Amino acid sequence: MAFKQLHIALIASPGIGHLAPLLSLGHRLATTHNLRATVLAVTTTISPAITQLLTSLTTTNLSVIQIPAADISAVIPPDAKIVTQLCIMMRETVPAIRSTISTMASGPHALIGDIFSTDSWLIAEELGIPKYVLVTGNAWFTSLFIYSPVLDKQVVGQYVDQKEPLEIPGCKSVLPEDVVDPMLNRDDETYGVYLAQSVGVTLADGVLINSWEDLEPQSLDALRNNEVLRSVIRCKPVYTVGPVIKGYEPDGAERSGVKNKVIEWLDKQPNRSVIYVSFGSGGTISVEQMKELACGLELSHQRFIWVVRTPSGQVSDGSFLKTGQSSGLDGPCGYLPEGFLGRTEKIGLVVPSWAPQVEILDHVSVAGFLTHCGWNSTLESIMSGVPMIAWPLYAEQKMNATMLTEVLEVAVRPAALPTVKVVGREEVAKMVVDLVEGEKGKTMKMKVDMLKESGNKAISENGSSYVSICKFIEDCRSRCH
Ligand code: UDP
Repeated sequence: MAFKQLHIALIASPGIGHLAPLLSLGHRLATTHNLRATVLAVTTTISPAITQLLTSLTTTNLSVIQIPAADISAVIPPDAKIVTQLCIMMRETVPAIRSTISTMASGPHALIGDIFSTDSWLIAEELGIPKYVLVTGNAWFTSLFIYSPVLDKQVVGQYVDQKEPLEIPGCKSVLPEDVVDPMLNRDDETYGVYLAQSVGVTLADGVLINSWEDLEPQSLDALRNNEVLRSVIRCKPVYTVGPVIKGYEPDGAERSGVKNKVIEWLDKQPNRSVIYVSFGSGGTISVEQMKELACGLELSHQRFIWVVRTPSGQVSDGSFLKTGQSSGLDGPCGYLPEGFLGRTEKIGLVVPSWAPQVEILDHVSVAGFLTHCGWNSTLESIMSGVPMIAWPLYAEQKMNATMLTEVLEVAVRPAALPTVKVVGREEVAKMVVDLVEGEKGKTMKMKVDMLKESGNKAISENGSSYVSICKFIEDCRSRCH
């Protein structure tokens, strides 16, 4: 059957880290590839950041529908881990997603969901349409993720206690300390949820990854050609669609104040002189770490923009589901060392809770990014040609940090994991100075510029990701009957 125009529904679980790439992929399908895309954004709290993102990409072929996440307070305890919360929330929201799809004037020909949306495969099956997963992380993470049920059978004891790295067929092995959060404690219920999620992903008709051939040749080759991984992934096609990153924040009324202030400040700084510090949409650090970071920035005498969030008792993903909301009654700046704001006012800008990250990274004054290594932040930094200080906190960020420092060589990192040991002020200052002024910083800048170029090439016409998306579209069409 010939389609006038293929219509794809993209389901995004709560959290800007999932929504942003799904939305940007929908936008790319609608514009570059002229399909019709409907993004079904499951949301918890409606923060200004989410609202802005949802309204930022309107175009003829792209619609965005917000679906309130199901209330799961009666189903799981409020302190359940974030992965459990997201999986249960998305499972309980399936009826609302189904009913939204059923009211569409012309239904979708295929579904794309993130890794938390696998319960929605049921809807695709009911409609007799194919379903695809978009992994919003990288190919190396994808390999570990789909291989985890096998590791579960092979490895005895906790992963973090293993003496040897965990072998993933055909891929760089994973250091025990770098495993993703749900693998940290096999006795925790989140581990079971994670394994089920991994199996759910392999039931999709194809896997889309926010990466590109030249960035991860080894892992992508393994996912496509390694016999063991092929069998785990049930021989599903693997498509690279990246880099998919979000664009500039639109000038919404609520945001423009912060945005103007930040950009005006950056405009006054010398080229490549500022370190941008941010821990993603939900990362929080401890009170003690916040103090050491502040003192380290001050000690470095380098310029900085710091997105400050209310600290938590421990490093965590504490505000992940409250993306972009202001935090704490006294405001996060109340936790900074006494006199810090006054002493650094000539070289630093502190932004509470949320900043226009993509614009900041793209600004000519920015020299480096101290990042929690969320995959979106990582790609945004690479695509702006900005080398990094890798400061992983949660999810798969420790793997990302290892990849950035050891494989891609575009980041430096503290000697010990910040989740294990507070990074002292001297170490912070040294990393910042090395990045902004040192030889290492120059070499990393050269390497990150090359990655930026290869990313741009991948998404340009006939580039590897462009071609891969075309193949995905062909696959979609061939499965629709
Ligand atoms: N972000 C932003 N302003 C902020 C903090 C985060 O625009 O102050 C955006 C950032 O640009 C990225 C996303 O939020 O697109 C965070 O995604 P990432 O995968 O890096 O981390 P997560 O928040 O999912 O851990």
